[in-house]
Amino acid sequence: MLIVHKYGGTSVGSLERIENVASRVAKAKSEGNDVVVVVSAMSGETNKLIAYANHFSATPSKREMDMLLSSGERVTAALLAIALKENGVDAIAMTGRQAGIKTDNAHMYARIESIDASAMQHEIALGKVVVVAGFQGITEDGSVSTLGRGGSDLSAVAIAGALNADACEIYSDVDGIYTTDPRIESKAKKMDFISYDEMLELASLGAKVLQNRSVELAKKLKVKIVAKSSFSDAEGTIIGEEEEGMEAVLVSGIALDRNQARVTIREVSDRPGIAAEIFTKLADEQINVDMIIQNASSAGMTNLGFTIPQSELAGAKAVIEAFDHDIGGMDLDDSVCKVSVVGVGMKSHAGVAATAFSALARENINIEMISTSEIKISMIIAEKYAELAVRTLHSVYNLDK
Ligand code: ASP
Ligand code: MG
Repeated sequence: MLIVHKYGGTSVGSLERIENVASRVAKAKSEGNDVVVVVSAMSGETNKLIAYANHFSATPSKREMDMLLSSGERVTAALLAIALKENGVDAIAMTGRQAGIKTDNAHMYARIESIDASAMQHEIALGKVVVVAGFQGITEDGSVSTLGRGGSDLSAVAIAGALNADACEIYSDVDGIYTTDPRIESKAKKMDFISYDEMLELASLGAKVLQNRSVELAKKLKVKIVAKSSFSDAEGTIIGEEEEGMEAVLVSGIALDRNQARVTIREVSDRPGIAAEIFTKLADEQINVDMIIQNASSAGMTNLGFTIPQSELAGAKAVIEAFDHDIGGMDLDDSVCKVSVVGVGMKSHAGVAATAFSALARENINIEMISTSEIKISMIIAEKYAELAVRTLHSVYNLDK
């Protein structure tokens, strides 16, 4: 088998931990696998490099930032290759460029455009473990580029796709994806399997484990991800394609997003085009609108409610104030949160939403907004009920069993 291992910052956070990674890689190799390893910078390194740059400039050149930031991952790749050789495993460290990773020109947020895997394949054929510095590639004009924070997950998935690897094992300090946040519900269970689509909807649960963009890419390239801990031998969680005939779980997890604020615009004149104008202006300001509710209008007036990330509240307020003549007023509320019930089984089962609503009603939790998709029900509630709601929903769908 050809396996890509990816180790995050905590897993390579000290020399002892790099030694630990070397023995894990050596073990996988000795079991007869070809192994390509993608590494992050040692934990804290990227932040430290950013702080160095900010000593000289608040707006450093992005090209030079990439030159700087890419060095963190190169250090880890080189050290791991040295440690592997010392353990009797032939290894070679490569930068993103040497591994053939070509990106667009968007410095600090580059997108991978293609991978020429021939250099990696050549070394694999010689029996070597290839250790690639994650988070980086090369632009068309030969400058180093980086892929955005958390981007070494993306490197790993893209490399697994290019090499047609059997799996992409992503190691962190968490041993998989849980049915909900274990800090809120101690009965949360580690999942054996979760589909790409569910994982994307449960982003808040996997946020510490996997970068969302990498899950999107894995879905596109059909790369099987295994989220594992580098500190234990636990099995981990497989993130993959839902297979035909697989008994779809009704509900796989409960996610919580506290970073929500609600905006209500009162007495909006109900004329064609008003929603378009408001939401176009919000989009122009890069404000991410999530749920939207428009009430039935009376006397030519309607109320318009929507949610946005808390950090965008001030920006949204400024945008809406400009509609002075068209609206009666606005209310802002940042003491709300969003709880979501996610599961592919919802597609074929009625009543999943009703169960959630009844469960919250029994706890006297008022649902302020609702949105649904094929595999998700999201509800906006008062933030003070966040934990109670998560525990209530986790139990009503038997996720603790
Ligand atoms: N070192 C980079 C960061 O801290 C990339 C990564 O670790 O995935 O964002
Ligand atoms: Mg990470």
